Amino acid sequence: MKYGFGIDLGGTTVKLAYFDENGKMLHKWEIPTDTSENGKNILRDIAASVENYLKENQIPREDIIGLGMGVPGPVSSDGVVHTCINLGWGVLNVEQALQELTGFPVKAGNDANVAALGEYWVGGGKGYKNMVMVTLGTGVGGGIIVEGKLLCGAHGAGGEIGHMTLHREEPLRCNCGKYGCVEQYCSATGVVRTAQRYLEKNDAPSSLRELEKLTCKDVFDAGANGDAAAIEILDIVYQNLAEFLGNLCVTVDPDVVVIGGGVSKAGEPLLEGIRKYLPQYQIHATRNVELSLATLGNDAGAYGACKLVLDAYK
Ligand code: ZN
Repeated sequence: MKYGFGIDLGGTTVKLAYFDENGKMLHKWEIPTDTSENGKNILRDIAASVENYLKENQIPREDIIGLGMGVPGPVSSDGVVHTCINLGWGVLNVEQALQELTGFPVKAGNDANVAALGEYWVGGGKGYKNMVMVTLGTGVGGGIIVEGKLLCGAHGAGGEIGHMTLHREEPLRCNCGKYGCVEQYCSATGVVRTAQRYLEKNDAPSSLRELEKLTCKDVFDAGANGDAAAIEILDIVYQNLAEFLGNLCVTVDPDVVVIGGGVSKAGEPLLEGIRKYLPQYQIHATRNVELSLATLGNDAGAYGACKLVLDAYK
């Protein structure tokens, strides 16, 4: 049996995990992300933590296939990161740098893409060949797997599906600089904004009006409790999601669409809502797509990172 490390590098913590080659997580831990001095200590800290783990557990180096890492920014297929604002990094070949520090093969990818690969390996997309993962969190991220391979793209921006345009007449600007991106409607913040807009335009009574600070969860909870306005708001959310996912389906023709991120905690009702409108954005050939919920939660990134290096070097 061979082993690998999966590393999920975030702006405040680095999640590390040790896996066997079949995708079983054997141990996981975290270290803080030191973003001082333009993040120059980050890779050194990761290398030291891995070395420590090997030493403490008396694991021979030859058992290790390598280290995979998800990075919060675009990573091109040659391992070069092109600016990670969260970390203070400019242009940096992270694969080469971490390889030099550890002596192990390293493979890096964008964190959202890598999380998709994790769900594909042992999570909500397990057993399928073609998969789209959609992460509905504070923003909207994703990853696309075609014939078992992660789509990286020419500039490491493959799967940046949160910035597909959904409503070109949108007056507010998205974080990316465009107007009317999917992320502006389908993220947790987007659901709240949809609710606020609805409540401003309509006089209908709603329990949501009594809340001081409205959250995405409040909207789903009120809908589940039969609040008529919340049900109509969620209907708008489901239509937006269906149009978005329908466009992805006619582009990728996946076996399965896996939905993760905070919004997916709404669970089965979310999938049912999307299923109600999805057929109208599909063509005949893509009608049988499965919808499923992500199962790995915050560990998806570490799983996928390990899978990335196993695919490259095993
Ligand atoms: Zn955008």
